[in-house]
Amino acid sequence: MQPEVIKPMASKPPRASEDAGKEKDVIPCVHIFGVKIHCVDMATVLDAIRNYIRSDEPHFIVTADSYGVVLAQTDEDFRAIINRADLVTPDSSGILMGAKSLGKPLLERVSGVDIACEVCRMSVEEGFPVFFLGAAPGVAESAAEKLKESWPGLDVAGTHHGYFDPSEEAAVVAKVRNSQAKVLLAAMGIPRQERFIRDHLQELGVCVAMGVGGSFDVFSGKVKRAPAWMQRHGLEWAYRLAKSPRKARKVAALPRFLALVWREKYFGAKKGSN
Ligand code: UDP
Repeated sequence: MQPEVIKPMASKPPRASEDAGKEKDVIPCVHIFGVKIHCVDMATVLDAIRNYIRSDEPHFIVTADSYGVVLAQTDEDFRAIINRADLVTPDSSGILMGAKSLGKPLLERVSGVDIACEVCRMSVEEGFPVFFLGAAPGVAESAAEKLKESWPGLDVAGTHHGYFDPSEEAAVVAKVRNSQAKVLLAAMGIPRQERFIRDHLQELGVCVAMGVGGSFDVFSGKVKRAPAWMQRHGLEWAYRLAKSPRKARKVAALPRFLALVWREKYFGAKKGSN
């Protein structure tokens, strides 16, 4: 396990109010097939988000699942995006199982959908605005409305769907910036959401930008999350596949990921993969 200093992408002297002691900023990480994943629990992630907001500088959080790690094996640009992010959380049980069998145990699953819920709670308690970007037209609005029912007082800075074309990108970035949101939840699926954040992090005006995959579909009620027991037993992929056969391509990443784990465990790491 290697310690890694979590620091803002742009350097600016810390503010007096920032209680981010140096040792608190050190979050250990492991590398799984060349992809950095932090060894975090939810409390550490939420502390990091608080510190990022206090720093008033842009930060990028990736929620990495097996699909992302498999994609990163052939897509170097995507791998670089993950490895340069300020924080990478283990989004899926597959990542946890793989890391454990490679002798690099992680603490717990910290998924995008769970972080998004906690961010909404923090938005109410600590008073910062959140922008919801992604999913089909109308879904981000409906997700924000449903979340407001759970957390009255949730400060929704703005919403926008995730099916804009490249010619509209500048307008979407301006909409986020003008909303004065502190946190951007980008729900456009891997890798579109990560590429969008990487390309525009400095212009978005937010302190935290993170990819949250299909979360808005879940919040809006369009898609049901797997029952808790399936999540606990690492079977969310089976539920997703049964509900939406179109997910087969993504779900197929899980056996490919497990095959990589098996190969490394029994035949050793490929040169340069760790
Ligand atoms: N999506 C989007 N723009 C696109 C492609 C997808 O906003 O160009 C949305 C899609 O509607 C869905 C989410 O991105 O709400 C991706 O969900 P998925 O469950 O595939 O992501 P995962 O959670 O597996 O990363």
